[in-house]
Amino acid sequence: MADCIFCKIAAKEIPGKIAYEDDRILAFHDLEPQAPVHVLIIPKKHIASLDQVTEDDRELMGYLMSKVKDIAKELGLDNGYRVVINTGDDGMQTVKHLHVHLLGKRKMTWPPG
Ligand code: 5GP
Ligand code: ZN
Repeated sequence: MADCIFCKIAAKEIPGKIAYEDDRILAFHDLEPQAPVHVLIIPKKHIASLDQVTEDDRELMGYLMSKVKDIAKELGLDNGYRVVINTGDDGMQTVKHLHVHLLGKRKMTWPPG
């Protein structure tokens, strides 16, 4: 996707502070962290949102979700963490490339805003 900032980060066309990378996914630190640790985990494949996931993405999405705990461990989130996937307008999704927010190192509140 030519004008997608997260595709550009994945392609190293714009810089990102990378926390984890392999051939299918990338985790990088959020520009405006909402917790002491705040990383975004994305599939390298451009998928616009959770609402656009197809049958073909099943394995990739399962893989991504299975890596969350490894990335959390790597970042020292030993006391728990929160995972958020903002989706669509009501979900307040601002970047239209599916991303998993991984937040930690502080006590979260509930319900979310
Ligand atoms: P959303 O609101 O779509 O769920 O989350 C988008 C997130 O991407 C926000 O937390 C925002 O701070 C972050 N973000 C937006 N642009 C950039 C960028 O260029 N680099 C990084 N590292 N984070 C970004
Ligand atoms: Zn993209």
